[in-house]
Amino acid sequence: MAKTKSSMMGLPMQMLIGLALGIVVGMFVDSSFANTYIKPFGDLFIRLIRMVVVPLVFATLVAGAAGISDVGKLGRVAIKTLVIFLLTSAVSVIFGLVIAKMIDPGIGITLSTEGLKAAQVNAPSFVKTLLEIVPINPMEAFAKGSILQIIFFAILFGFCLNYMGEKGKPVYHFFDIVGNIMIRMTLVVMNYAPIGVFALMAAVVAQHGLAVLLPLMKLIIASFIATALLVIVIYIPLVMFVIRIPVSTYFKGIFEPWLIAFTTCSSAAAMAANLLASRRLGATNSIASFAVPLGNTINMNGTAVYMGVTAVFAAQIYGIDLSIGDQVIVVLTGVLAAVGTAGVPGAGLIMSTLVFTQIGLPLEVIALIAGVDRILDMIRTSINVVGDSTTALIVSRMEGELGSEPFEEEAPKA
Ligand code: ASP
Repeated sequence: MAKTKSSMMGLPMQMLIGLALGIVVGMFVDSSFANTYIKPFGDLFIRLIRMVVVPLVFATLVAGAAGISDVGKLGRVAIKTLVIFLLTSAVSVIFGLVIAKMIDPGIGITLSTEGLKAAQVNAPSFVKTLLEIVPINPMEAFAKGSILQIIFFAILFGFCLNYMGEKGKPVYHFFDIVGNIMIRMTLVVMNYAPIGVFALMAAVVAQHGLAVLLPLMKLIIASFIATALLVIVIYIPLVMFVIRIPVSTYFKGIFEPWLIAFTTCSSAAAMAANLLASRRLGATNSIASFAVPLGNTINMNGTAVYMGVTAVFAAQIYGIDLSIGDQVIVVLTGVLAAVGTAGVPGAGLIMSTLVFTQIGLPLEVIALIAGVDRILDMIRTSINVVGDSTTALIVSRMEGELGSEPFEEEAPKA
């Protein structure tokens, strides 16, 4: 079997170099050149890493669910995962609100919003959202990449497979092997990451020169500080005292998915690398293959921070004071908006209209934010992804299983 080229330098280092070179090259090329000749290499990377997601999630989740003989355990894992998602999302919006109120990103900005148009998003009905977790046709769910539907079908399939006992073993082995093949494919595809990261970064820098960023610098700074504080005040203590692994091991472990999220602005694109990173850091297959894809769809802590920051920003632009009641609404709708945000670039910006509508802010402000949203998206997406692997590790630790299933980097050869 062909082995991927082993290089002298580790992948994270190569990706970091790609990032740095991308920034430098982006400063010297104009945006139309970057978009025409450089960005396609980045788009290729996004396509490659998205290609592996559906089969990877389905196969690993079927094998994971089939491996759980105790139904109660799945329920426990699901509840713990959801509670952590919800709590961290709410705390994230609060961080965004509080820090933005200290930095005042919208005060002193007199940008005209005249002539700017904004699309409004209406909150989907709760019952409909729940109903749609159940696919009418699983094949359609695969074709569309509807992760929640795939998760639902995979868990049910895995359980029924488990019920088959000895007879079901060949199918179990089949999915176990397919999962390993997809893990291998992810590793192969990741070899292209340094070039992808380079191309995406060059395109962003070429397009968003300093002139575009400067007027809204305070908004970028507020987002950055609120997100960084979330990591320092919440994540790091969780790593130290709940997961109980060295902080340096954790940061090294999540580096690849973090950087992919940062440069692609798509948590969906970072999902495969995130699944692998969680496994390497010690999460078990059944927990990681449940929590990471689920979190990818509904747990967006970075986007939640952003909801808080942009609500304060928008209110300040229009000279509106947010009352305590308004702030409570921002937290509640901010969590909902983050849950409903898809893991693709720019989705959070559109979903922020949900929050603005609830507190009566004119929606035109999103057209202002749009000018710098790519930068804000880089910040929020990277934390969206990190929140999912952190949750997989916390739940693995709570179940007493952290590190109990050493992750095999290489698919076993026959
Ligand atoms: N780009 C983000 C993600 O993929 C979603 C957002 O726009 O907030 O996670």
